[in-house]
Amino acid sequence: MSATPETARIVADNWKRVCEAVVEACAQAGRSASEVTVVGVSKYVGPELTQQLIQAGCGVLGENRPQQIWDKDQWLREHASGSSFEWHMIGHLQRNKARRTIPLLGSLHSLDSLRLAKAVNDAAANSEQSEPRLDVLLEVNVSAEEAKTGAGREEILEIASALVDLPHLRLRGLMAMSALNADAEQARRQFSQVREYRDQLAGQFPDLDWSQLSMGMSGDFEQAILEGSTFVRIGSSLWTGVV
Ligand SMILES: *Cc1c(COP(=O)(O)O)cnc(C)c1O
Repeated sequence: MSATPETARIVADNWKRVCEAVVEACAQAGRSASEVTVVGVSKYVGPELTQQLIQAGCGVLGENRPQQIWDKDQWLREHASGSSFEWHMIGHLQRNKARRTIPLLGSLHSLDSLRLAKAVNDAAANSEQSEPRLDVLLEVNVSAEEAKTGAGREEILEIASALVDLPHLRLRGLMAMSALNADAEQARRQFSQVREYRDQLAGQFPDLDWSQLSMGMSGDFEQAILEGSTFVRIGSSLWTGVV
């Protein structure tokens, strides 16, 4: 759908509703709402509607494909310079796309292999940003389903051990997804396992920052917030009525 004043109003309403639901979930979890950042996932829409989400107040945009970030970033620079936002990459990043993608990112949630970590470190080193250090989260596959993305526990250990030699990466924590067919209770249990795993890693690698947890999407962010999520990645709920 093309962007109109009507879509701007709907997107702003959706944004407000999602933010209120996140605040409510934080209250139920006994947590401060300031601990949780909503990543507005813009993969379902084009740059015009993405801009309307920024105008509604969303300052962190999530995309799962590098090409979308390249294209939208350029469009927003040309058409909406001055708007303030950052990109968070939440999907698998191919190594050969790191060099072009990394300079555009505020954070990479989906670091899922040692080879990618090395490529991202090199790309961050060569990026022209004033501080050549990129925030990264390690994407863990907790359910060990074959079709799932993310690294297994052995690989997480391998990456965490290597970070000392990758000075352009700044670890912030873990990212995970619940299983596709999980109900609310199962999703909560999986998020709880991620939190426990994070606590274990924090004991094992006390010099690294494990404070952030990227967990929860439109269908399960309440459960994720109950289990300590600090980034909820919300897509579909933000675009009801416009796609
Ligand atoms: C699409 C996507 C989301 C958003 O999911 P919704 O169910 O649309 O809220 C979150 N995380 C990742 C990795 C995604 O690809």
